[in-house]
Amino acid sequence: MEDSIVKIVLLGTGDAPGTPVIGCNCRTCMDAIKNNWERKRFSILIQKGDKNILIDTSPDLRRQLLSLNIRRVDAVIWTHCHFDHFGGFGEFYRVQNDIKVYTSPEVHEDIGRFMQFLKYKPIEINPYEQFSLFGLNITLFDVNHPTVRRSHGVKIEYRNFKVIITGDTNKDIPKKSLEIMKDPDLLIINVLAPEGFKLRKHLNAADAFLIMKKLRAKKTVFTHLGHFFPPHKEALKKYPVGYDGQEFILKKEITTLNEFLSK
Ligand SMILES: [Zn+2]
Ligand SMILES: [Zn+2]
Ligand SMILES: [Zn+2]
Repeated sequence: MEDSIVKIVLLGTGDAPGTPVIGCNCRTCMDAIKNNWERKRFSILIQKGDKNILIDTSPDLRRQLLSLNIRRVDAVIWTHCHFDHFGGFGEFYRVQNDIKVYTSPEVHEDIGRFMQFLKYKPIEINPYEQFSLFGLNITLFDVNHPTVRRSHGVKIEYRNFKVIITGDTNKDIPKKSLEIMKDPDLLIINVLAPEGFKLRKHLNAADAFLIMKKLRAKKTVFTHLGHFFPPHKEALKKYPVGYDGQEFILKKEITTLNEFLSK
């Protein structure tokens, strides 16, 4: 791929158990089985030229990388210490080791306890301080996801594009973070359930719509979706729900994201 092109791929749009949920007979899970669709666990791939950055390492990572023919991972960013976000780190161990992993000292410490037998290079990043990876400007920021002590969202800036990935959060996002999340071209937001669901750790769709408006997001996609949402095609009529494998392409010639969003 041309070095000036940045591609963002939703590798998994499911919540911790994924959809279908093992053993579940709900309408959504039955529809997924019958019509052969699924929501794998959370990972986002950022591709710039031949470089591959992973935001979180989904427990489904082996299949996700093989299905897209991703042959190597150049860097990993972890958002927080929950199994559905880091559990697949070992999926490319033995194939590749000494991978650089970027996150805050607290998240390194928490996930590090589960990684004693896997080698990697921890790079400590202070949230709100921008760092650069393969020409992309990246900033981690704090969100609010009890009971983990720290959970991060990710801001990616490239040329005149701004992409915000919320990370797992509830609606009480710190003001300082909301400030840097403003006016994104693309908002990738973690939404666990439709409106009406009372959630302590996550957002429901009503919370997400409010945040989307507050930030004046030009384009929004919901991810980290639970089986509480209707089957995918039905959900799409009401919500901007993402799907596994969905791609967004940032090209330098084009100035607004809507003109070149590809499916
Ligand atoms: Zn999660
Ligand atoms: Zn279900
Ligand atoms: Zn989580």
